[in-house]
Amino acid sequence: MAEGDSLVRIARKLEPAMSGRVLVAASAPNPRSTLRQHARRLEGRLVERIETRGKHLLIHLDDGLSLHSHLGMNGGWRVDDGRGFGKPDRIAWLLLEMGGDAGEGSGASLRVGQFGGTTLRLVRTVELDRDPRLARLGPDILAPDLDLERAASRLVASPDEVGVALLDQTVVCGIGNIFKSEACFEAGIHPWRPAPSLAGEGSGESEAARLLGIARRQMQDAVETGRRPGRIYKKTGRPCFCCRAPGIRSRAQGDDARTTYWCPNCQS
Ligand SMILES: [Zn+2]
Repeated sequence: MAEGDSLVRIARKLEPAMSGRVLVAASAPNPRSTLRQHARRLEGRLVERIETRGKHLLIHLDDGLSLHSHLGMNGGWRVDDGRGFGKPDRIAWLLLEMGGDAGEGSGASLRVGQFGGTTLRLVRTVELDRDPRLARLGPDILAPDLDLERAASRLVASPDEVGVALLDQTVVCGIGNIFKSEACFEAGIHPWRPAPSLAGEGSGESEAARLLGIARRQMQDAVETGRRPGRIYKKTGRPCFCCRAPGIRSRAQGDDARTTYWCPNCQS
């Protein structure tokens, strides 16, 4: 599942394959692709840079156009390492072939592809900020310059339960279902508490700031290692990593009924 850490890893993988290169071929073989009619418009354009905002990926091109991608639960980007994508080309939402970098003089081409996802569109870069899904995003939990206190104040301003507020991309963006449970567990915070109860008293660090700091560190670690904590997510009924009691619980939470995992001994 593509949470913010996956998107940063995808961007790091795509960056060397794409940035500074010209798109020499573009196609949208999957009949369900939203770029079915427009993929050819990408041909001849230069890739300037790749950006992530929470779970959104933006590929900026040289003539004021950007590709906006969101992978949803099951989508992914793949780089062809010379042996194909590991999936048939015909199901790709978008296939892009880059020409060799003039600086390398190799002329070797590289291919990348998006498979599945919920959003894939070509948009004028100046219009990106008017897209309601992007305009309403809260601060990115993985932004290098994240102001943790400001993010924490947004979290405690949410009227929702902690486990719902953490998934609300307009509060803070990038956290998904796995890190929601893993961060609450490590912080010892019960995910069913109201988010305003995480406000600090006096001048000390608030529980909200501590929780978001833990989520950020867990996700930064996952960016670097490719591994997620795996202490509580999908561990229903198993012994707790911390207290050893065999009672990890899980239940659907919020209007979207996303499953939340917690230990009743360790989280309050
Ligand atoms: Zn426990």
